[in-house]
Amino acid sequence: MLSFFYFSGYPMAIIDNDSRCVICIEKLERPYLATSGVAFPAEHRLNKYCDAPLHQDCVENWDDRIEFSEGYYNLSRK
Ligand SMILES: [Zn+2]
Repeated sequence: MLSFFYFSGYPMAIIDNDSRCVICIEKLERPYLATSGVAFPAEHRLNKYCDAPLHQDCVENWDDRIEFSEGYYNLSRK
């Protein structure tokens, strides 16, 4: 389940017809999810993936998915 990426209390990433997956940089023509809030500080390498849309299949095959998920899990507990 990927539903833990959705939290209330934060504005969702703004997504329009020109939005692209931040992992593969392709258009959002496949199922995607979007995080809300920023789980990593600006200098962190995963910061650019925050508050942005990500294809579900890109996340499933992404080497950073565990660290990224942990960041949002921890954010939700603050
Ligand atoms: Zn993608």
